Amino acid sequence: MLDLNKHFIDGAWSSSSGDVIEAIDPSTETVFARVARGTANDVDHAVNAARAAFPAFAATPVGERIRLLEAIASGLEARRTEISEAMSVEMGVPRKAADAVHFPSGPAHFREAARVLASFAFDEQQGSTMVTHEPIGVCGLITPWNFPINQVACKVAPALAAGCTMVLKPSEISPWSAAIIAEVIADAGAPSGTFNLVQGDGLTTGSALTVHPLVDMISFTGSTRAGVEISKAAADTVKRVTLELGGKSPNIILPDADLEDAVSKGVARCFNNSGQSCIAPTRMLVPRPLLEKAEAIAARVAGETLAGPADSPGSVIGPVANAAQFAKVQAYIEAGVASGARLVAGGPGRPDGIVRGFVVQPTVFSDVDPSMAIAREEIFGPVLCLIPYEDENDAVRIANDIPYGLAAFVQGRDMTAVRRVARQMRAGIVQMNYPPVDRSAPFGGYKQSGNGREWGVHGLREYLEVKAMVGFG
Ligand code: NAD
Repeated sequence: MLDLNKHFIDGAWSSSSGDVIEAIDPSTETVFARVARGTANDVDHAVNAARAAFPAFAATPVGERIRLLEAIASGLEARRTEISEAMSVEMGVPRKAADAVHFPSGPAHFREAARVLASFAFDEQQGSTMVTHEPIGVCGLITPWNFPINQVACKVAPALAAGCTMVLKPSEISPWSAAIIAEVIADAGAPSGTFNLVQGDGLTTGSALTVHPLVDMISFTGSTRAGVEISKAAADTVKRVTLELGGKSPNIILPDADLEDAVSKGVARCFNNSGQSCIAPTRMLVPRPLLEKAEAIAARVAGETLAGPADSPGSVIGPVANAAQFAKVQAYIEAGVASGARLVAGGPGRPDGIVRGFVVQPTVFSDVDPSMAIAREEIFGPVLCLIPYEDENDAVRIANDIPYGLAAFVQGRDMTAVRRVARQMRAGIVQMNYPPVDRSAPFGGYKQSGNGREWGVHGLREYLEVKAMVGFG
């Protein structure tokens, strides 16, 4: 049994003053770790360490911070096997995907932050006014479990680049990888108190961080529900709150798209990480005359997407991360059937032959009405809705008629039409014809998908204050 009943504060591991949470391996439903539930005292200790470290770290030369970021990236690479294994156990991603898909985002965010920092203009002269950018201070970073290393790295890297100090509260579901990352950051030479890790849940630990008066900013990624609670709780101390929240991304297949390619890749992206991706293209919008063909392709790909335990070499996708998520996804699948959507792949229950673990059958519904709950609410499981549309205006209307606005996807051969549709999407990210990942592109949502932007130079700016020195000369 792994002992994670400790926090990393002021350069050292310290015992927790609270009770413990049992972390469960979603493939086996067995407890793999005892994790500290950080108390308000633990959070206070960590925030004070970060506060004390702030003036010196804020004053470090840019070159030194670049070296630190690069050393962290190399340190992560040196512990790749261990980190991938941890993610696979804690949230159920198959071992191969943990290594090939999840892991690389960690070092990549640190290297990207170093690249951005190297050319960032902290001072900008505007006439006789000097506009300067300064680190905001102590940051509370609250992350989800779905892409553990990515979520931590895309907050810690720009915060360090900016010259901020921080307290990370990772998800209680992914505490193991976070503990290893804390060791890597310390080993890379981060001064004591610069980076602190407090393990725990949202209700006790996350909320103590959110209301702490010495925290200048909360960067939160997670559900819209928690984002609303955090915004309200942080309001009393007027701290900056940046939110990266849920999504229900449309994937518009234009009539001239290569249907086989557009649909099969769209299904794979929807099921990626067992559907536990905030940008997952879960609503596939298909021209009505092509619905039957699209349905057949989607059903075939779903059938080929083997869902199973993370340590089984045959598993394309693993279980969903916890029992509550499993119950929620099952309830949505049952609601989809009850609402009259046509089930063309998967369905309720575990896949045949699997008796244990939170494994969900990759499921496709067709002829889904955009007003149905399965078409409007974030399921966060391997469930795809095919929604027919009449013409381009209808597709744009359906795509935007939703409270979320994180990502949108558009597929087609005629780039004039693809770009025209992309410009009409009310979403922070539009991906055209499944491009490769661009970590310098801003990542964040419109509407109830959030208000912040991460990655690249936009990510760095989130952690900076802007000061106008008027009459500077
Ligand atoms: P969650 O909201 O339950 O928890 C996220 C984090 O917030 C965890 O660390 C949790 O302990 C903490 N937390 C929960 N309630 C809190 C509170 N009241 N105060 C302080 N902290 C609190 O989300 P989850 O289940 O871990 O992750 C899934 C959600 O995250 C999905 O909705 C998904 O779309 C979203 N997400 C968004 C992005 C994005 O970039 N927009 C990326 C990944 C995941």
